[in-house]
Amino acid sequence: MPVGFLQDSRAWIEVDEGAITRNTRLLRQRIGPNVKLMAVVKANGYGHGDGATAKAARAGGADAFAVASLAEAVGLRHQGLQEPILVLGHLSRSDEVHACLRWHVLPTVSTMDQARLFHTVASRLGACLPVHVNLDTGMARLGVPWQEGAALIQAILRLDGLQVEGVYSHLAAADAVDPSLTKQQQQRFDRVLAALANGQPAGLCRHLANSAATITDSGLHYDMVRVGLALYGHAPAEHLEGILPLQPAMAVRARVTILKTVPAGTGISYDHRYHTKRPSRLAVVAIGYADGVPRLLSSRMGVLHQGQWLPQVGSITMDQLVIDATDHPRLHTGAVVTVLGNDETASISPRQWGQACGTIPWDILCGFSSRLPRLQAVHSAPHGGQPTIS
Ligand SMILES: *Cc1c(COP(=O)(O)O)cnc(C)c1O
Repeated sequence: MPVGFLQDSRAWIEVDEGAITRNTRLLRQRIGPNVKLMAVVKANGYGHGDGATAKAARAGGADAFAVASLAEAVGLRHQGLQEPILVLGHLSRSDEVHACLRWHVLPTVSTMDQARLFHTVASRLGACLPVHVNLDTGMARLGVPWQEGAALIQAILRLDGLQVEGVYSHLAAADAVDPSLTKQQQQRFDRVLAALANGQPAGLCRHLANSAATITDSGLHYDMVRVGLALYGHAPAEHLEGILPLQPAMAVRARVTILKTVPAGTGISYDHRYHTKRPSRLAVVAIGYADGVPRLLSSRMGVLHQGQWLPQVGSITMDQLVIDATDHPRLHTGAVVTVLGNDETASISPRQWGQACGTIPWDILCGFSSRLPRLQAVHSAPHGGQPTIS
């Protein structure tokens, strides 16, 4: 359907793929040439578009990709990515094992039941399936309890349908100021590796670090790091901002559709949760919570236009929100406002949104819906100019 000409009519996401490439390069410099970089592009590349993100990260030196589901992995293959792809989520069906073999996707193993099934399916085909074993060192989520990790790995090594290519674990609080939980998890990780000692398969890829651990501590890098949030230009915590000059890759923009002047005391939007305090000029902006602007931000957010901040007023609705443009008489119908991201010298970050509504930048970024087209940012045009369709 030729909808391209409609894509920037209402609201859209601009993705600066060059920023993702530069961020990847910075992280690559951080880890040095002997450590691999796995770009985490699950959840549609944290909302940025997974194929575009993966290609931009690859241009900056990413060696491999991680996703949450098999469908995401196969989606990357369809988009032409040929690098190793690890599925972080739990696979447990034989058709999933077939797909891993067919698409050269690496599954994660956390249980002996999985190992037996994967081995049975692979060996029936005369194949050997490379896998990564996940150790639960303190997240209490996926992964084999670390105390049983060495035994599971040794058992898998005896199955000729499987090849243990990697061993990993996931940190629960690498972005905390207090490193004690991370230290404890690292000790447990090291104890499993030590228990394997001589039995450790040659070329085993050990990986533990997420973005926070990659940024803060080279002792956590091992053979590979798995970076998500930092690729997209955001530090995982406020106290980690500025360590690397990361550049946010996403901007969310929307159009002003209607302007109106109302008297003081006018109730705005559902339930009139806001009343104007003076005669006001209101602007309706064509984006709402169905697009991923959290309704919890109602009357607690603003938008940017030509680098200036305009407050949002009243309840955010499914498809629209209202801003107070009284102090911005030049704002016109059809103008483009920035809802999130950079606008000239000003910016609004997913951390600010998260702080205002009680969540984290990850949740904000991957909360934007598929109704918003992802367009590639164009730098020659000023913000608010015409982005191209990627
Ligand atoms: C999502 C995820 C990551 C990436 O985390 P960031 O904090 O975004 O860098 C790494 N490892 C695992 C297992 C994950 O689920």
